[in-house]
Amino acid sequence: MTYRTHLIAGLSLLVGAVAACSNPAETSDTQVAAETPKTLTLYSARHYDSDKTLYAMFEEKTGTKLDVRESRADQLIETMKAERDQSPADVIITADAGSLWRFQEAGLTQPLASENLGTIVPANFRQADGHWYGVARRLRGVAYDPARWSPSDLATWDKLAEDDKSGEICVRASSNIYNLSLMGEIIHRYGSEDAQAWATGIVGNMARNPQGGDTDQIRAVAAGECSIAIVNHYYWVRLGASANEADRNAAASTSFLLPEFVEGSGSHVNITGAAVAATADDTALAEEFITFLLSETGQTYLTTETKELPLLDGSPLPDGVENVPDFVASDVNLETYGENQAEAQRLFDLAGWN
Ligand code: FE
Repeated sequence: MTYRTHLIAGLSLLVGAVAACSNPAETSDTQVAAETPKTLTLYSARHYDSDKTLYAMFEEKTGTKLDVRESRADQLIETMKAERDQSPADVIITADAGSLWRFQEAGLTQPLASENLGTIVPANFRQADGHWYGVARRLRGVAYDPARWSPSDLATWDKLAEDDKSGEICVRASSNIYNLSLMGEIIHRYGSEDAQAWATGIVGNMARNPQGGDTDQIRAVAAGECSIAIVNHYYWVRLGASANEADRNAAASTSFLLPEFVEGSGSHVNITGAAVAATADDTALAEEFITFLLSETGQTYLTTETKELPLLDGSPLPDGVENVPDFVASDVNLETYGENQAEAQRLFDLAGWN
């Protein structure tokens, strides 16, 4: 090859590159596509090492590069609002259907119509238009002193509001999303008037002003400050597996159960879920990732460390969860939690639940 043909070849490559840049629609150079790994940007409100392991497995399996940005859910919403249509977000992962609803309400998600996900995920655990899909389950119940109460004393949420529980309940602030979602289901089942009466009853039975997180409520039961703590199951399971002996003993001194709303109604279930961000271009890749979260590998790694329950029946359960008693899940559609969220806060405020 002469110097001249080298030059011509170089020039035509350059022209080709310019053409590709100026008109991406006509770029069909499969060689370039194969050499440039796709990137999926994940905005996650979770922060677990087992998630990182799972993400690495997805990268290995698909050749996709995952760019993971972790922050609190409310912070992620603020970030995405500020980034507007320039946000790099492709997929959002966050705990609680009430939190997923907030992303949706803020216009930060897009509907993903997926026949496959629609088949895998039960209808009550996904948004009807595909704005979000559940990937793991979490249960809000009570950790209690078994020397003080028998399970039948705490069989329904109503029973917690009865006079015999005066001064016995520890629970966190009403603005916490777990409490708002629980109240969302109570409003759905009882109506606003009875829901407010329930919240008033709980406030009257509180041992102290709401403070701390769920784990602090269990420790307070162990310390004798109260005898009933309203908490998510995984905090109780994790405390029981803690490296700290005092915490292990605290968990062991309590029992856990899942009240129903009325007998036979089933118990309150929530989810961790995934949503396709409004700014995602490659929705097929986003769908592939969410589908991976619902594979057996995904279900296992999403729950081993968090002690959530897999979303899909038949997936292996994480160690420690066997101590959570058997339960029947409420069949309420989880969109209800978001739809009733503002009303839940209004009724909590009226009841004086800080
Ligand atoms: Fe939590």
